[in-house]
Amino acid sequence: MKLDRILPFAKKLLEKAIPSGAVAVDATLGNGHDALFIAELVGPSGKVYGFDVQEEAIRNSRERLEKQGLANRVTFFHAGHEQLYKLIPDEHHGKVSAAIFNLGYLPGSDKSIVTKPETTISAIQQLLEIMVPEGIIILVIYHGHDEGAVERDALLTYCQEIDQKKAHVLVYQFINQQNNPPFIVAIEKR
Ligand code: SAM
Repeated sequence: MKLDRILPFAKKLLEKAIPSGAVAVDATLGNGHDALFIAELVGPSGKVYGFDVQEEAIRNSRERLEKQGLANRVTFFHAGHEQLYKLIPDEHHGKVSAAIFNLGYLPGSDKSIVTKPETTISAIQQLLEIMVPEGIIILVIYHGHDEGAVERDALLTYCQEIDQKKAHVLVYQFINQQNNPPFIVAIEKR
């Protein structure tokens, strides 16, 4: 298949948005796969801020980054991403180049701990305040579970209403596949 699948497309956007030395955010650390990818992109002089509400996710992510010798590029916050404006130091406000949200629940873990539309939207609003122009927010939306469908609808409604003078908003989705595969909403600050 020539078309990018969903996760490779997300990675391509991250590669475009994150130059060496950049500041980036993993808003949902989970097992740290995205944090590792971003930590490689920002390079030795860059910085990653990672968030998760589960201790297990912080531990797994830290271990993954430590194994690759990259944990020193990441600050791990055991906190919701809705607190990012106050937790990311002032010196990096206005300097964030990209953020990724892998929404839903952590595979193999407690399925009752899921991302929620109000907190996800709050985090997006805060990011739009502290990003560079042309900074990109990537939402990978998993809508196969009940709460995921609710979150999808709330996010699409919110994102469609973002002033086009403030951001470009893209949906990247295969629309003829079964079982509600994930799709991407990308928001580029203007
Ligand atoms: N990107 C991860 C990876 O590479 O393994 C997968 C992320 S998983 C689909 C979603 C994660 O979001 C879970 O680990 C969950 O604990 C976390 N989460 C739920 N609500 C959150 C919130 N308000 N802020 C930050 N993380 C949250």
